Amino acid sequence: MSHVRVAARVSGFGTSIFAEISALALECGAVNLGQGFPDFAGPAWVKQAAAEAIAADMNQYAPYQGLPRLREAIAATWRAQGWREPDPAHEVTVTSGATEALFAAMQALIDPGDEVIVFEPFYDAYVPDITMAGGAPRLVRLHPPAPGAPAWRFDPDELRAAFGPRTRLLLLNTPHNPTGKVFSRAELELIAALCIEHDVLVVTDEVYDQLVFDGARHLPIATLPGMWERTLTINSTGKTFSVTGWKIGYAVGPAWLNQALRSAHQWVTFATATPLQVAAAAALESALTNGYYAQFRAEYARRYQVLRAILDSAGLPTLPTEGSYFIMVDISRTGFGSDAEFCRWLTREVGVAAIPPSAFYADPASAPLLARFCFAKRLETLQAAGERLGRLGA
Ligand code: PMP
Ligand code: GLN
Repeated sequence: MSHVRVAARVSGFGTSIFAEISALALECGAVNLGQGFPDFAGPAWVKQAAAEAIAADMNQYAPYQGLPRLREAIAATWRAQGWREPDPAHEVTVTSGATEALFAAMQALIDPGDEVIVFEPFYDAYVPDITMAGGAPRLVRLHPPAPGAPAWRFDPDELRAAFGPRTRLLLLNTPHNPTGKVFSRAELELIAALCIEHDVLVVTDEVYDQLVFDGARHLPIATLPGMWERTLTINSTGKTFSVTGWKIGYAVGPAWLNQALRSAHQWVTFATATPLQVAAAAALESALTNGYYAQFRAEYARRYQVLRAILDSAGLPTLPTEGSYFIMVDISRTGFGSDAEFCRWLTREVGVAAIPPSAFYADPASAPLLARFCFAKRLETLQAAGERLGRLGA
């Protein structure tokens, strides 16, 4: 009998909910509004830049911290938004998606036994990222808005109580997946004040920073007074340019945090796909002047309105989304006892796939009864889902 076994740190991990629901959607021929990825092509000029970089033989390892041209384009993007002018040499690092940046950041900044404050529900990778680094998540609930209220909220006292002697870091996500919450200036100021008071670092995942609606404004916590020195801001070009398979992510922050991140990153992937970095640089450079972001937001605002109307009229009341490309709906009146059961039934029997948000809670049984739908889809796809969902009310 062999005593060979896998490491304890991974032995409890199942398959991610995104892989499970996408496979089920494929098997059932369902319209997939589950996993968050666009079903339309990224801009032709972005794809062209990648094709040209490959043809021009930019196919060997890139510098481990990222191509200088891409780091400069990221710095220019920050400057153009009035946030700050990071030094591309020391304050910007390119990673293989936000996913790698998050993993490497936790490896770089957490020691065993350290506590990390995370808002729950949380993007599914966060807790494994923390525990694989030996840290312990300390969860603070986001509460769904009461009917008519504009946004999910947290209780300031619950947040205050989460800070203790072992707190090393707070992991933030705004705009937030899966709730669609965009943290307000007042909320960010409270978080910042507590992090400064307790000398806690912030890693903030802002991959949906260009996707805000209905007058909401995205504010990077790193731009608040006293926060730059303790904050690493993570982003990804996958969402913004509709090329999620490219996995070009990046981190911006003070040199000492980038240095730490690079120390871990060099042993995770070393470097990131060179021609796709060239294309990401071209995309960010062009978007500074060609009006891309305004058009991108307008198209998404339309998709959001279309899907929201479809869901509401199918008897699935929507919660407000301020940012991201997700809508949460209330399923408490569908008769299902769990969101996972509802989402599997909806995928199999109605032919529309959605994600059960209980996958974003440490104790799935404690999750409110909701389902998450993605609107990063062609209008035809949303209409096809609408036709199927229309039968729900019948
Ligand atoms: N963070 C959040 C909040 C996300 O929703 C996602 C993916 N959709 C990621 C990180 C991962 O980004 P990437 O594909 O660049 O690794
Ligand atoms: N972030 C995407 C979502 O929330 C999925 C990414 C993944 O499959 N890991 O749906």
